[in-house]
Amino acid sequence: MSTYLDYAATTPMDDRVLDRMLPYLKEDFGNPSSVHIWGQRAEWAIEEARERVAKGLGCRPEEVIFTSGGSESDNLALRGAAFGARDTRAANHLLISPVEHDAVRKTALELAERHGFELEWLPVDNLGRVSPNDLRKSVRSDSAVISVIYGNNEIGTVNSIPDLAAIARERNVTFHSDALQATCQLPTRVDDLGIDLLSIGAHKFYGPKGVGALYVRSGTPLLAVQTGGSQEQGLRAGTHNVPLIVGFAHAHEIALARQERDADRFQMLRDHIIDGVLDRIPGARLTGHRTERLPNNASFVFQGVDGNSLLAALDLAGFACSSGSACKTGDPEPSEVLLAMGMERELALGSLRVTVGRQTTEAELDEFLGVLHDMVIDLRTPVAITA
Ligand SMILES: *Cc1c(COP(=O)(O)O)cnc(C)c1O
Repeated sequence: MSTYLDYAATTPMDDRVLDRMLPYLKEDFGNPSSVHIWGQRAEWAIEEARERVAKGLGCRPEEVIFTSGGSESDNLALRGAAFGARDTRAANHLLISPVEHDAVRKTALELAERHGFELEWLPVDNLGRVSPNDLRKSVRSDSAVISVIYGNNEIGTVNSIPDLAAIARERNVTFHSDALQATCQLPTRVDDLGIDLLSIGAHKFYGPKGVGALYVRSGTPLLAVQTGGSQEQGLRAGTHNVPLIVGFAHAHEIALARQERDADRFQMLRDHIIDGVLDRIPGARLTGHRTERLPNNASFVFQGVDGNSLLAALDLAGFACSSGSACKTGDPEPSEVLLAMGMERELALGSLRVTVGRQTTEAELDEFLGVLHDMVIDLRTPVAITA
C-alpha cells in the first residue's frame, strides 16, 4: 500500500494485545463497579492491568489512573494540579515549556485565559531543550505546576527530566512530564525520573487507541477534571473501558520487555535516515538534538521547500510521513515548536518528520532516501540556499 514512516503519530497494534482484549469485548462484558460475579471478573482484569502497569513504572498500583489517552492524561495533570495547588497553597503560577504537545500547550493557555492563572513559558535552546539553570531561575514559591515534555513528538529532543524534576522537588512544586513518545523507548521508572505526574498512552507503543494513564505520585494535590462515579480514586469518573485497559497493560509489558532491542534497532534506522539526508540533500538541516533524541525520530527542515507539498508528494509516491506538527496538513502556519526554538518562519515551513518502528526495514529507508532526494530538488523554489 504505502510505506509507513509515521510511528510517532500512532503504531499498529500488536496481535497478542488484540487477543488479550477480545474476551472483554465478548463474554466478559461486566461493569467493574457491579458487585456480582460479572462485575468482579471485570474488576480483577482492571486491577491486574493496573498492577502490571505499576510494575513497569516502578510505582504503586493506586498511583496509576487510567484515562482515555495522552490528551486526557495531560489535561488531568495540568488542570488537576493547577487547581489542586490553588486550593491547597494559593499557588497561581504555571511554568510550561514552549515545545509541548497541544494537549499541554493549549490547556495551559486556557488555564491562563479563562481561569486566571499566570502562565510563564520556560526558555528553550535552539535544540528544544529546557535547561535546569533556567528552571531554577524561573521557579517561584507560588508556582503551581511545572510541565516539560520528555521526548519531543516533533523534533525528537529529549529533556533531562531527572535534573529538572529535582529542582521542582527542592521547591515543593508539582512536576509533570508528557512521556507519550518516551514511554517504552527511554527509561520511565518514576522514582528515577523524580516526577510527580507522568502521562503515557498505549497507541504510541503498539497498544490500542483511546487508552492511557496518568501516574500520580501519592500526596500530589490533584483535583478531578471529570466528576461522577468514584472510579480511579475519584479522579476520573466513568465506567472503565475494560478491553482497552487490558490491552494497554499487555502492550506496555511487551514493549518494556523488548525496549532495549527495539531502541537499538530504531536508533540504527534513525541514524541511517539522518546521515542519508544530511549527506545527500543540499539545504537540509536536522531539527532537534543530534544524539539526545528519541531513538525512532528523524526530523528536518529543507530550505526553500514547502513541507505540505513535500508530504503530499511523498504520500503519492507511497511514503507516509508527517510535518511533525500537531496541525493537520493544509494548515499554512509553521510549527509553534520550531518557532519557539528560534527558527525563521520560512525555514520552519519546510519541516518533515520521519519516524520508524517495529515494521521498518533498511531497504524501505534506502528507497525512501532516493525518492526524498529527487523530490526536494524538484520542489525547491529557486531561492538562494544558505549553507
Ligand atoms: C500522541 C501524543 C499526545 C496525545 O495522545 P493521545 O493519546 O493521542 O490523546 C500527547 N503528547 C504527545 C507528546 C504525543 O506524542
